[in-house]
Amino acid sequence: MSSASTSSAASDGPGSRPGAHHGVLPLPPQGRAVSVARRGLMLVLSSPSGAGKSTMSRRLLAADPSIRVSVSVTTRPPRPGEVDGEHYHFVTPETFQALVEQDHFLEWARVFGNHYGSPRAPVRDAIDAGFDVLFDIDWQGAQQLAQNQFRKEPDADLVSIFLLPPSMEELARRLRTRADEPEAVIAARMAKAKDEISHFAEYDYVLVNDDADSCFENIRTIVAAERLRRPRQIGLFALVRTLLA
Ligand code: ADP
Ligand code: 5GP
Repeated sequence: MSSASTSSAASDGPGSRPGAHHGVLPLPPQGRAVSVARRGLMLVLSSPSGAGKSTMSRRLLAADPSIRVSVSVTTRPPRPGEVDGEHYHFVTPETFQALVEQDHFLEWARVFGNHYGSPRAPVRDAIDAGFDVLFDIDWQGAQQLAQNQFRKEPDADLVSIFLLPPSMEELARRLRTRADEPEAVIAARMAKAKDEISHFAEYDYVLVNDDADSCFENIRTIVAAERLRRPRQIGLFALVRTLLA
């Protein structure tokens, strides 16, 4: 067999889409790389504050150019060093409310007394362009996305990962070393952590973030395996057609 290209995503069968991403599957024994179109993932990473989701998100984005991050809109004020449009879109409560009424968000929730929401349009654009989209959101957002994907975004696929700390002592230690926050703020985050942890069973995958490198490798393994799930490899129809011809 000569090497096959299955790049015509538009004719690749159910769920295919122009511009879908092309993963690469090595097919032995010829050892040639065959490009198989796949559709993008919506990858949700949640954890109690301080368990390490920002750290893992940063590493994942740096390591994998196929992943884009969903930049949330929030009513909380920027922290030192946070850049508008990069870490969050910072808006007033009035603007946030107007955006809710315009159905601007895929999901939104109130967390720690502030409002946070994931804008709908950039996610759809990124998925349509063949990228995976990473969401750093809480359990309320994860629940809403799980419902949305059947209601409003049938073409997008959700994979959710929850990070647990190895112990509450270690979680407190990480919260204290991360930022110079008052003890009252740390105590509030610790109290909220128990609420967040109680939702662990709603996620597809749960990882204990003890050793950071192992946790990161596990996340990459999950992403790699989820990309290879048959329904996501929409280019397989074309490849199999050539194999069976
Ligand atoms: P989150 O985004 O969940 O609030 P961060 O990613 O900001 O948490 O992590 C909180 C702190 O813990 C940071 O100082 C980070 O460097 C540290 N951290 C993250 N993962 C680990 C780990 N596996 N072992 C030790 N420290 C960690
Ligand atoms: P922080 O203010 O520390 O950046 O975030 C506080 C919490 O809000 C974190 O648990 C974070 O995951 C969550 N969060 C951030 N953006 C969103 C969002 O768009 N939607 C939801 N539901 N939660 C979010």
